[in-house]
Amino acid sequence: MISDAAEYPVNLYPSEQKTGDKARQLRSPKYVQLSTAAAITLGLIPGKMYRTPCTHCLNLLVTYPEGCRANCTYCGLARHREESRSYNERNFIRVDWPTVDYDELLQKIEQKADQGQFQRMCISMITHPSSDADTFTLLEKWTARVPHIPVSILSNPTTLEYNDLLRMKALGTDIFTVALDAATEEIFERTRGKSVDSPHRWEKYWQVLKWAQEIFGAAKFGAHIICGMGETEKDILNLCQKIKDMGGHNHMFAFYPEQGSMMEEWPAVDRGQWRRVQLGRYLIDYRGVFVEDMQFDAQGRVTHFSLEESELENIIQSGLPFRTSGCPGNQADDISACNRPYGDSKPSDILSYPFAPNEEDTKQIKSQMENN
Ligand code: SF4
Repeated sequence: MISDAAEYPVNLYPSEQKTGDKARQLRSPKYVQLSTAAAITLGLIPGKMYRTPCTHCLNLLVTYPEGCRANCTYCGLARHREESRSYNERNFIRVDWPTVDYDELLQKIEQKADQGQFQRMCISMITHPSSDADTFTLLEKWTARVPHIPVSILSNPTTLEYNDLLRMKALGTDIFTVALDAATEEIFERTRGKSVDSPHRWEKYWQVLKWAQEIFGAAKFGAHIICGMGETEKDILNLCQKIKDMGGHNHMFAFYPEQGSMMEEWPAVDRGQWRRVQLGRYLIDYRGVFVEDMQFDAQGRVTHFSLEESELENIIQSGLPFRTSGCPGNQADDISACNRPYGDSKPSDILSYPFAPNEEDTKQIKSQMENN
């Protein structure tokens, strides 16, 4: 525990302090994990984030000492890491996710410890027998106590049924998303399906996406997609178009080889590929461009975005396509309240910008984009 003294009135447990009997007690719904960025924004841990003062989304994760029961090859929480690490030492994405008492956290939010920074809260589910029920409990408490901050659910389709989505909606969920992650069925199967002894099924994920489309409606559902797991640019942009055509949004993540995961040796996403995919996704989601009008080479790389050069240049210069993509906040000009600072890259080599890129950044983005 970092401290329960006045300076840190919330009991907070970073990974290295989640050991022994205490670790066994740290389970949802009494406890949740939160991103390091959210903990800093709330003043729960000391620290500063590089070039950005805060995050605008309170990202939470349900937590259990026995961990996630799925076995995704790229994930820091996966079951296969049991042999090498205890659950408490496994990371969700890249950085530590400390654990806090949920009621104490709610109290902090009621006291406005975030100083009005949070525009959204998000609950990430995992594959665990208690995850559905605990998500309902967390959600219900949140909407009763902090109704002014909207909630996103990053769902686990494997354990969800149609009525669960109805219930989430009734309890006040604003946006419902599916962590599809893989851009194609083949990649899904290879990274998180039967072949790696994981319970997830491509068909079920699409079934839940269709339920989300029906229950939550246009612009209120979406998918998380990881770029760089073996798909082509054409594959991933085709998927973005499909989700967009359904009325949803695409939230893009750069593949990062998580240490200790089965894909730790897989190369980090190619920078040129990533920048073109970021741009293509933005054009599809926000500028009415269709993937069918883009041009691709024989390797599936984008060669033309179907816009006049000057228009494309203006869009690139705006920096918007290269910012973190995620659920919106309450600012009309905000592309994503969920800015997940350094969730998919190091501050020294930023892939998803949690702030507006400056001139130097844009120069680098352009030179990366021109590389094949
Ligand atoms: S984009 Fe952010 S807020 Fe939205 S579901 Fe994903 S993690 Fe949650």
